Amino acid sequence: MSNQAYQEELVSETDSSSSDEATGSEDEVAAWIGWFCSLKGNEFFCEVDEEFIQDDFNLSGLSSQVSYYDYALDLILDADSPSTEILTDEQHELVESAAETLYGLIHVRYILTSRGMNAMYEKYKACEFGRCPRVLCNGQPCLPVGTCDVPRQSTVKIFCPKCQDIYYPRSKYQGNVDGAFFGTTFPHLLLMTYPSIRPQRPPEQYAPRVFGFKLHSSALACAEGQSSGAHTNSVGGAAASNRNCTQRDQHMQQARKREDESGPSQTKSNQRRHT
Ligand SMILES: [Zn+2]
Repeated sequence: MSNQAYQEELVSETDSSSSDEATGSEDEVAAWIGWFCSLKGNEFFCEVDEEFIQDDFNLSGLSSQVSYYDYALDLILDADSPSTEILTDEQHELVESAAETLYGLIHVRYILTSRGMNAMYEKYKACEFGRCPRVLCNGQPCLPVGTCDVPRQSTVKIFCPKCQDIYYPRSKYQGNVDGAFFGTTFPHLLLMTYPSIRPQRPPEQYAPRVFGFKLHSSALACAEGQSSGAHTNSVGGAAASNRNCTQRDQHMQQARKREDESGPSQTKSNQRRHT
């Protein structure tokens, strides 16, 4: 991801960029931005309009958060810095790294504007942020979210609008991206702006079952008591364990009785076969 690699790619793409200029597209996107967004792991980023970056008002306060700010900004906008030649290779790398941070900090602001939100909405419709891994969410498309708005605190996560929970992105490259470049507000503001994409139905809840029976909270308490009783070798521990087992047997009997009265026909026929 070095500056040199970007420069080399620029040379090879000269022909295609000149043809782009000929078509004269309305939304100008700098070549560095297109290159950065095409890197593996950066799929969640949208391309920020050059016009947005050129407006100083949109960048207020960022110069104090990024080192080599002016160089980084020039790199993002493909502007020639007159004094870039005096930088050492090491400084060039620092500028490249600063440009990535600066782009992220601009990006988190841009995606809260109507143009930025629209760009992210298009990516959401194309399912570019991945799908919810939860089985009962049936492949619901997700949105990127940060758990903290301060850079370098946590990586980006994906938010599922159906189960309202967050997950790690599937790709490990995406998992290394800073969550602050997407922020804590974005997916929720997007869902408020585009109410039609909010899933309507509340999510189904998964019900754990043992031999077909739903687990009662007292059954789990019984199992916990049994395992802690097993660790103590005292007579008291054994007595507690026995008591728990007796309680569990009673619960099982009650559950069977209930199944006999109103249970599924399959269980009844199975029991008849056994008796
Ligand atoms: Zn989900």
